[in-house]
Amino acid sequence: MDQAPANPLMQKSGLPRFDEIEAGHVLPAVQELLQTAIKLFDEVEALEKPTWEELFGRLDRIDQYFEQTWKPIGHFNSVKNSSELRAAYEEVLPEVVKYSIRVAQSEKLYEEYKSIRESEAWESLSSARKRIIEQRLLSAELSGVALPDELKEKFNEMTHELSKLGNKFSNNVLDATNAYELIVTDPADAEGWPNSLKNLTSQAYNKTRKDDEPKSTPATGPWKITLEVPIVQPFWQHCQNRDLREQTYRAYISRASSGEFDNTENCNRILSLRREQAKMLGYNNYAEVSLSEKMAENVEAVQEMFETLRKASIEPAKDDLDDLQKLANESGETNELKQWDIAYWAERLREKKYEVTDEVLRQYFQHERVLNGLFSLVERLFDVQVREVDGDVSCWEPTVRYYMIFKDDQPVAGFYYDPYSRPENKRGGAWMDVCLNRRHTPDGLQLPVAHLVCNCTPPVGDSPSLMTFREVETLFHEFGHGLQHMLTTVDEPDVAGINGVEWDAVELPSQFMENWCYHKPTLMGMTAHVETGEPLPDELFEKIVNARHFRAGSDTLRQLTFGMTDMLLHSEFIPNGKQSIFDVQREVMQSTAIMPMLPEDRMLCAFQHIFAGGYAAGYYSYKWAEVLSADAFGAFEEAGLDNEAAIEETGRHFRDTILAQGGSQHPMILFEQFRGREPDPTVLLRQCGLLKD
Ligand SMILES: [Zn+2]
Repeated sequence: MDQAPANPLMQKSGLPRFDEIEAGHVLPAVQELLQTAIKLFDEVEALEKPTWEELFGRLDRIDQYFEQTWKPIGHFNSVKNSSELRAAYEEVLPEVVKYSIRVAQSEKLYEEYKSIRESEAWESLSSARKRIIEQRLLSAELSGVALPDELKEKFNEMTHELSKLGNKFSNNVLDATNAYELIVTDPADAEGWPNSLKNLTSQAYNKTRKDDEPKSTPATGPWKITLEVPIVQPFWQHCQNRDLREQTYRAYISRASSGEFDNTENCNRILSLRREQAKMLGYNNYAEVSLSEKMAENVEAVQEMFETLRKASIEPAKDDLDDLQKLANESGETNELKQWDIAYWAERLREKKYEVTDEVLRQYFQHERVLNGLFSLVERLFDVQVREVDGDVSCWEPTVRYYMIFKDDQPVAGFYYDPYSRPENKRGGAWMDVCLNRRHTPDGLQLPVAHLVCNCTPPVGDSPSLMTFREVETLFHEFGHGLQHMLTTVDEPDVAGINGVEWDAVELPSQFMENWCYHKPTLMGMTAHVETGEPLPDELFEKIVNARHFRAGSDTLRQLTFGMTDMLLHSEFIPNGKQSIFDVQREVMQSTAIMPMLPEDRMLCAFQHIFAGGYAAGYYSYKWAEVLSADAFGAFEEAGLDNEAAIEETGRHFRDTILAQGGSQHPMILFEQFRGREPDPTVLLRQCGLLKD
């Protein structure tokens, strides 16, 4: 055995030595990593008719070195950030990016994959290996590798322009958002605001206050309303002054649609470049390009889902509006409700029907008990054991723990759990990340290891850490991603666990796990009041469940408006033709909106998901994944949630299909293996109360 290198980031296998990593290790380790990677990659490109093992053996070694050196650096950026680390990261990043572009655009590799695809041996490859080749070929082709030289140059220019336009689009949204402000000075207008809103808007005011103006306090104002969602959303929910709601609402829906930050032409240009590139690649439109890498087979399949959800949501959404109008009238509002009234009255109705404060609920959710509840659920469903590993494992913080998962007493995976918030060096939110992939190495089989990171409130003194219900749900969600990574049985790292899973299917295990938080015995089993030890009262459980269905029809229609507009803009729509992008939205809203679209509605000019994010012709994925996860949970409901034997059998089936095989099979095949049929959207509709049996 070689001695472990002094620089922990230079080790070549095993669990990272997290407690030793320092910013000073980054530069020398990454330099060595890139040297080795470039050398190995040169060798790969020089191979003549390599066997699978020769080719992928080397590529896999490179990946493993990145996993040992580069992954922990990214992880530290999120959980143990410092100015030194950030500086070191920024210093090495350009070289790493340069290397990854070289690999992605390697024509030699592309030819190699093609010859494997065309060889006689193709048919005898495992489905995992076929998927690897097909995914690599497709991604290379979509980046333009296979185009003839004269087209390639043009294609690359367009890619470049698209990336600049996306950036410009985002900046315009940001600048337009920042260009607006509404200063509220009359304390009567701030009546009924929650303290969090008063704090935020008072802080916002002080940030840009001129020296000769008096300072704002949360209690007395002035308060600055901006168009940032964390401010304007609660403002609409709580501001009693209807005119102020209208002003801000109108400003919000016309962001970045006129003047110096106008995105209208950027939208058109982006859509037409995407369409043109799609045609160069041999597709009819960009939607086909996007779907070629996703689970949904084609535009029609997505539209069929839209239509099923839409039909079921229309009447409930009309009822939602009637409920609000009724409540408003009873409360003395004489006007007919408009768009800017919805959030306000919906919040009043929610308070009336389901209000349980986080503070009340938290008392029932003790962190350790929730964790044990989650683990025992997983143990029951998937026939595994979760055990904390004491001692010897190196962690980056004393509060971080390391667990291993066993099956039939054999270890199959490990995970780090970083539970508490540390605002000084850890980013917010919760996530699952890969630490190590399951792979064969010169030292033998490496088991998969995950990072599970949350931001819960740490224990104070003797009192235990308490969780909000939302935090419990999030923990289950991330653990679902983790399970797919950890319970994989695939040995090809490219398609093991969550790797290689089409991204409209990747939220299946995570949202599936969330469902258990609404399963009464599971949830009750995790609760115990921190002082009395009493389980959650039935009445509170009912509120949690009913709040989940609140305004489900209206919310679905809103998501469908975005999803359907996105899909039409990237398929049938002809940029710079007779119709404008806003005409497309209006047409969609004729079937998805209870209130007609306002003439000045220019939401598309700020729709970053599709114009500047990765969701172009992909916004439907949110709903698609919900359909899958609801339907997967439906299998357990059908088996009988109180029939222990049936639950265990269904759980093992879920483990052996969706969790174990992950990216090694097309998600539709896996889903059908598990469910015995294609996904059925009506299960989701029933689950959110939009379809009564
Ligand atoms: Zn997720």
